[in-house]
Amino acid sequence: MSTTTSALRFSAYGDTSVLKMESFALADPVDGEIQIEHEAIGVNYIDIYHRRGIFAAPLPLPSGLGMEGVGRVRSTGIGVTDVAVGDRVAYVGGPPNAYSRIRNLPAARALKVPDDLGSEIVAALIFKGLTVEYLINRCREIGKGDTVLWHAAAGGVGSIACQWLSRKGATVIGTASSAEKLEKAKANGCTHLINYREEDFEARVKEITNGAGVDVVYDSVGADTFAKSVNCLRPRGTMVSFGEASGPVEPVAVSSLGAKGSLYLTRPSIAHYTAKREEYEAAADNLFAAIRDGVVRAPEITTYALEDAAQAQSDMEARRTSGSVILLP
Ligand code: NDP
Repeated sequence: MSTTTSALRFSAYGDTSVLKMESFALADPVDGEIQIEHEAIGVNYIDIYHRRGIFAAPLPLPSGLGMEGVGRVRSTGIGVTDVAVGDRVAYVGGPPNAYSRIRNLPAARALKVPDDLGSEIVAALIFKGLTVEYLINRCREIGKGDTVLWHAAAGGVGSIACQWLSRKGATVIGTASSAEKLEKAKANGCTHLINYREEDFEARVKEITNGAGVDVVYDSVGADTFAKSVNCLRPRGTMVSFGEASGPVEPVAVSSLGAKGSLYLTRPSIAHYTAKREEYEAAADNLFAAIRDGVVRAPEITTYALEDAAQAQSDMEARRTSGSVILLP
């Protein structure tokens, strides 16, 4: 017996005008799947890359969109034992279909949500928080005494990262594109602030570190910042290139990493750091503990109706947002 749902879908890559709200019959969950009714949906920059079709492996079309949601389980397929009808679950990943009212999801992606955390907060935190969790603990473990350069420090991922990094005892140099965003980055724990629209961030980082450079750069801006970010590293420092909000990064000559000081370069993805169920659960436990302990506070949340997802994405692309953006079905 199917149920009726509605979702934002697209059948051509492009700007936000390709997103269309569609109503359709949703089949019952098959073996290993659950069906959930969303209470809140996270908007992430990866949704914009998917819509534009700029990933190395673009989504086959037509497609849904969205990698993060929170909702109640309505029904379960055969073989699902860890979650039951009525449970509130959150997820990261699975087929991109989060921009929907009701959807089916592999049960392996469902995480039970602690009762004391509201759905809006979880939707604002789970994808971005799990990203920060792996970036600063498992991709490169950051500790006391490390100096880190974090670009887009007032954005969704950046806001969580700067809080968590400062509580780990790192010195965080945060960049953002406006004075207002830099104030937010400061409140999130950045020690040093750079308006990278107005200042040469490479020169400022050298100045702040007395010429030494930073231990790690986390760069999700991509094309506009990558080359200078590499120049901000100390010898044997680590470049974590984890996004491309300004466009894809040009190919890098491996020999340049040697010439610039035996540097490490990685291009990590949350997909690979949460693929194994045990790692996924441990990361979520780590994040929920960080929230409970006040290491990570509820972020600034901007809310849009599901139908207005195109506007939400346009605002993100135009750099008008800070903190997390969510959709309410
Ligand atoms: P944000 O809320 O951080 O939005 C992106 C920010 O990037 C903007 O607010 C803006 O901040 C900055 N930016 C700089 N140049 C541009 C540009 N030309 N166009 C648009 N924005 C620009 O988004 P998210 O928190 O969702 O994601 C942050 C980054 O992290 C993204 O690049 C995303 O792809 C990446 N990511 C990677 C993951 C991974 O596992 N590899 C997982 C999750 C996210 P400002 O105005 O201050 O410059």
